[in-house]
Amino acid sequence: MREILLVRYGEVFLKGQNRPFFLRKLVDHVKAAVQEVHGHVWLSDGRIYVSDYTDQDEAIRRVSRVFGVHSVSPAIEMEKDSFEAICEQAAKMMEKKTGTFKVLAKRSDKRYPMDSPTIMREAGGYILDHVPHLTVDVNNPDHEITIEIRKLAYLSVDRTMAVSGMPMGTNGKACLLLSGGIDSPVAGFMIAKRGVELCCVHYHSFPYTSERAKEKVLELARILSEYCGRMRVYIVPFTEIQMQIHEKCPENFTTLIMRRYMMRIAEILARKDGAQALITGESIGQVASQTMEALGCTDEVVNMPVFRPCVGMDKSEIIERAEKIGTMETSSLPYEDCCTVFTPKHPATHPRKELVCRAEEKLDSQALIDAAIEGTEIVEVG
Ligand code: ATP
Ligand code: MG
Repeated sequence: MREILLVRYGEVFLKGQNRPFFLRKLVDHVKAAVQEVHGHVWLSDGRIYVSDYTDQDEAIRRVSRVFGVHSVSPAIEMEKDSFEAICEQAAKMMEKKTGTFKVLAKRSDKRYPMDSPTIMREAGGYILDHVPHLTVDVNNPDHEITIEIRKLAYLSVDRTMAVSGMPMGTNGKACLLLSGGIDSPVAGFMIAKRGVELCCVHYHSFPYTSERAKEKVLELARILSEYCGRMRVYIVPFTEIQMQIHEKCPENFTTLIMRRYMMRIAEILARKDGAQALITGESIGQVASQTMEALGCTDEVVNMPVFRPCVGMDKSEIIERAEKIGTMETSSLPYEDCCTVFTPKHPATHPRKELVCRAEEKLDSQALIDAAIEGTEIVEVG
């Protein structure tokens, strides 16, 4: 008899012929996740198992952050020949619980002498006899104890819900424009959850923005990497571009033009990194640069899809997600961002593309972009 983890996966089931590929990826990511706690991982009977870890809570925490994992349960693995021993173990696992319970039974070994309803009834009766403070409620129990009869028997009560989604690296790669704000880490998480690998680009306006602002962004990237694994962060010097825009372009277009440069540079870095799309944390109408027209005007300068998974979310919904994934606290640190440094008083909310293009003609775009890319620092995170 020993303690193990039962790891359930969700949507990977749907993938037909590609299923072995998705499963192999998922198992590899679970292996990587438990490496620090030395877990042994294997796949069997439509389930992933983890054993021999040094710290169960940490193993559960790590596995529940692997995209593609639906839920994780600590379980007891034991021989199945003595049903008495299974019942004893079930009663032991329920001793510390209070309130109501129900027994669930699953039997994949059809040669086992008892069928599922019998297992449920017998084990339920045994628990009632031996743990008298519990009562049965089959409709809405406080606890469910699952008894599975496979090659061996598996008993589990507690269940931690995991992130779900698709295994990392099964759906290409995208480049996240990562600011120090609340929205962009959430946007990156939402796309990564679909199995998309990430790299990040951050624009830094030293000395207008501090070293601490940069550190904050790297910390956000590190938190994201707990889900998506190791990734590259490109720190792009943006001061010169902002100064030139500020100096040479009409004030009401400065934010928009700045955003267009961010997109252009991100596209170049994305292609270099093998990414096929860009991700931003924009949401319709959140600020002047996120009206429908402004978004159209920023998209126009790039030739790859731009994903904006927060586009239809309210700020409160984005905050809720940020709290759940663990980026909110860091995003709330009060360091300045390059966007806030040169904010115009009256930004254009309904910009006309041809006027924006004409305003940009005053800038030596190629030289500005080349210099920014030349000065880019690459940091590996995770
Ligand atoms: P966030 O959206 O992360 O909360 P924000 O609300 O301040 O920050 P905006 O300034 O409106 O966002 O920018 C919109 C989007 O542009 C961000 O979600 C992010 O994807 C990108 N962006 C903004 N500033 C930067 C930056 N300094 N570096 C990289 N990307 C940025
Ligand atoms: Mg925003």
